[in-house]
Amino acid sequence: MKSFMDRQEHQRLVRRAVELGRATDPAAVPELADLLRMPSAEIRRLAASALGKLAAFGADPAAAVSALAAVALRDPHPQARQYALKALKAYGGAAEGLLHDLDDLAANPDVLDYVRLAAASAARTIREACRIAEGAAVHRCMACGREVAADEYARAQKAFQRTYCDRCFDEVFLKRRNWETNVELNKTIQAADGTVVQSDGERIIAEELAALGIAYRYDNRFRIIKGYAIRPDFHLPEVDLYVEYWGMEGNLDYQIGMLEKRKLYQQAGKKLVSLYAREKPRLREALREKLARFAKLDDRAPGP
Ligand SMILES: [Zn+2]
Repeated sequence: MKSFMDRQEHQRLVRRAVELGRATDPAAVPELADLLRMPSAEIRRLAASALGKLAAFGADPAAAVSALAAVALRDPHPQARQYALKALKAYGGAAEGLLHDLDDLAANPDVLDYVRLAAASAARTIREACRIAEGAAVHRCMACGREVAADEYARAQKAFQRTYCDRCFDEVFLKRRNWETNVELNKTIQAADGTVVQSDGERIIAEELAALGIAYRYDNRFRIIKGYAIRPDFHLPEVDLYVEYWGMEGNLDYQIGMLEKRKLYQQAGKKLVSLYAREKPRLREALREKLARFAKLDDRAPGP
């Protein structure tokens, strides 16, 4: 079991990786390369993501690619690999030397599907960036029609799976982020029992709790804690438990929000069940399984 100090240090490095991804300082490459060698997969994943972001700010491509390659190709944790593969994309032609390994990875049946897909996608973008650099291919910005350079192509593909020039990139990025935030934060959906929730995942949770006959209170307030959005949650008074649906796992702000909120719950000695967007196809089952771990719901006697 991890000691308190280990956990503190872990949280510090998690925050550091996130912070370096938000800062736009290309001099952070060596520090991120160190974080990519940490024993925690979470830290490696966040460091990979941060390195991908720095591609647009003049990070040394050779150093970044070599640090990312080790995780992308050999990391024991599939999510860390997936993030490193995505980050590699942003370096386009600088990762040309990895194409052979990426092709092998994409074709390796022993590797999880989403890692193989990420490898194939990275190889495709890197290959195309090389062709642009050689003058063998021309891609145009989808917003303004301008011909894009190889590195612009690589970064836009990494961020949007679309082609944008650097001038349009920021605008598209902001628009898209606002759109996602608006959709996720302002959507109001009515569950079968009339509770108005903020997302489809929350609706499923509300309806499943009602179907299980578990009393709940839904908190529809949004709070901002330390600058991060804290999502509404369900409180189950009978078992004194909170249930939260994290609908935007891919969004870095939300990942930090998740960590902050978990910390707050832990500090307050509260029990929190987290459900994630990736569990949505089987959210009802996931909810039941996680509830059962905390509360002996099976012991609930059927009503008279
Ligand atoms: Zn453009």
